[in-house]
Amino acid sequence: MFITVENLKKSYNTGKNKSEVLKGISITLEKGQTGVILGPSGSGKSTLMNIIGGVDRADSGSIYVDGLELTVLDDDKLTDYRRDSVGFIFQFYNLVPNLTITENIEVVSNISKAPLNIDTVLRAVGLEGKKRSFPRELSGGEQQRVAIARAIVKNPKLLLCDEPTGALDYETSRGVLSLLQKVNRDFGTSILMITHNTAIGNMANVVYKLRSGEIVETIRHEEAFPAERIEW
Ligand code: ADP
Ligand code: MG
Repeated sequence: MFITVENLKKSYNTGKNKSEVLKGISITLEKGQTGVILGPSGSGKSTLMNIIGGVDRADSGSIYVDGLELTVLDDDKLTDYRRDSVGFIFQFYNLVPNLTITENIEVVSNISKAPLNIDTVLRAVGLEGKKRSFPRELSGGEQQRVAIARAIVKNPKLLLCDEPTGALDYETSRGVLSLLQKVNRDFGTSILMITHNTAIGNMANVVYKLRSGEIVETIRHEEAFPAERIEW
């Protein structure tokens, strides 16, 4: 199994109150597959993604990613994992406004050692002509494509996408989802995507429904739908 999460728990201390945000999550994802965590706002999706991405730590439970047990790693090793193995995509692209598209991709640490080069990834996302543009000169969909290029230049094993289409209109969303499927197919990248959009679950091999910090349903698809055919 590529990802195995077992009985993961996480609470936040907010003043006197301790609220349990993840109440014993168990999920798996096979290598090269696409998984979706589907849940309403506040259900704990981003918290779960941050822990799987090595940005945050759980209180208890275990996580294995490609054989590596994250929950026992020290901080330096966890940083290595995050830097070398995980690409992140966010709702609001998180591009640096005063840097060109090329420079936004170069901000990835160790770019000189990155397995893919900038031209390759810009071609993969269809933005070869925008190398010297600035983010403000691009549409939302194009900016998300740059964010995808930046995430895949290090050829990560795992792509974590937190509401990747949350700020985009319907047609643009389909384009971005279809690009993520292409990345999955062409580079073999496993993808874990979180969303509140039910329809997006159709393009996943497995969908976990999250409600108030618990997985309430698991749906496995024989075949993941191409994004172009998803209606919502
Ligand atoms: P989702 O991504 O599904 O909207 P989150 O994982 O962001 O959910 O948040 C789940 C719950 O945890 C929410 O109630 C949120 O307010 C709370 N929460 C998230 N991050 C923190 C934090 N750093 N400190 C305290 N509470 C937090
Ligand atoms: Mg969130």
